[in-house]
Amino acid sequence: MSKPCSKCKGEMSGLVLDPFHGEQDGLRLSVHGMPCLVCGQGHKRFIHIEFAAQLMDLVMSPESYGGIPLALKKGLFKKHYHCPACDKELPESSTGHKAQEIVAELPKAEPFKVMLEVPVLKCGGCGKESIRSIDETAKLAFKAIDQAYRSIDIHPT
Ligand SMILES: [Zn+2]
Ligand SMILES: [Zn+2]
Repeated sequence: MSKPCSKCKGEMSGLVLDPFHGEQDGLRLSVHGMPCLVCGQGHKRFIHIEFAAQLMDLVMSPESYGGIPLALKKGLFKKHYHCPACDKELPESSTGHKAQEIVAELPKAEPFKVMLEVPVLKCGGCGKESIRSIDETAKLAFKAIDQAYRSIDIHPT
């Protein structure tokens, strides 16, 4: 038995959520099949108190973006970014998206998926796509998943 709903004291039961979404500055993210707890009035809670943060850590971890090439950073004061393949300077803003899929295997939960559309910079010379940095992409992912949580009104307690 899990503890009752903090809002209405109703009984909570397990639910696998329909896909839900978040977006930040062109990074789009959707969470597929995430388990949660829900009461009869539809108030949602994460399956345990650390779960929201564990999923955030996962979508921010460098391993989640391992398949995407990194641009070369140049310049001391004004940074600019170059293609990792042919060294041509890259466009300032994103030119497209690359799909990434993360399988979330978190404690006390069945595995589920997070699908990301990561904004990338396409080289005008050779066509290779890259991101400026893992850090920058991870910050967007952090905000996007926070918005995804808000969109379904789910809470840790
Ligand atoms: Zn409730
Ligand atoms: Zn190139």
